[in-house]
Amino acid sequence: MKILILGGTAEASDLARRVSELGWDATLSLAGRTRAPAPQPIPVRIGGFGGASGLAAHLRQQRIAALVDATHPFAARITENALEAARQTGTPSIAIVRPPWRRQDGDRWHPVPDMAAAADALGAAPRRVLLTIGQQELAPFIRAPQHEYLIRSVEPPESLPQNAKFIAARGPFAEADERALLLDHAIEVIVTKNSGGAATEAKLTAARTLGIEVVMVDRPALPAGLEAVRTVPAALGWLMFHAGTFRLE
Ligand code: NAP
Repeated sequence: MKILILGGTAEASDLARRVSELGWDATLSLAGRTRAPAPQPIPVRIGGFGGASGLAAHLRQQRIAALVDATHPFAARITENALEAARQTGTPSIAIVRPPWRRQDGDRWHPVPDMAAAADALGAAPRRVLLTIGQQELAPFIRAPQHEYLIRSVEPPESLPQNAKFIAARGPFAEADERALLLDHAIEVIVTKNSGGAATEAKLTAARTLGIEVVMVDRPALPAGLEAVRTVPAALGWLMFHAGTFRLE
């Protein structure tokens, strides 16, 4: 009997390390978006399951005793699928949902509901924009070619807006480096998802001190009935609490 961790986040890697130290049988699942994922101390499987029913079949076949959804707050589909698959199979499950960033004094945030609204919020006049939104959702910005874009993500995008430069980088980022990046490129506005977490927060602190605007894309809603904790230690506590019931060892 074992644990399945749905990953692609720092929390998932952290949990993988901790369950490995406890000697529990666990597998980390990745979607396969990153070409060279970081090495892990537990077995890794890569690729989609084929929707909620595919994941349910996997849970049954692999005799998974507990499912931990440690995916990114914007990975809404897999979180819905995980909840549905857990319901279908009666598998105990928990999600790790890290807290969102909160606006602080001095922030010049413009909250928007999605990426199309984020592109609209940049306005008609040309601006120098830092896009830190990953590589998958650039289409609305390709349709706003009046702006000059600096795009930073782990993997290179398939297509770029016409007036764009790309930087490949993986967090964590330091505030001094973020400040230098914003100044060197004379950035006027940042577009980011409200991912939360310390690893990529420094751009917000740098923007605050420099008075730079931030277009902040709000998170998708969590599915009804999702049982969630905020941190890796809390998820580990949940696993330990249930360890006897799940027969993890
Ligand atoms: P998504 O839209 O919620 O999921 C799309 C499909 O990808 C799912 O239906 C599933 O395919 C597959 N999938 C997603 N996560 C998986 C996992 N951990 N293991 C196996 N299959 C998975 O997800 P996404 O936004 O594309 O994110 C993909 C991955 O990147 C996730 O692991 C997420 O944690 C990570 N990530 C996402 C973001 C972001 O901003 N969205 C940022 C950082 C990291 P099937 O239906 O075929 O099972």
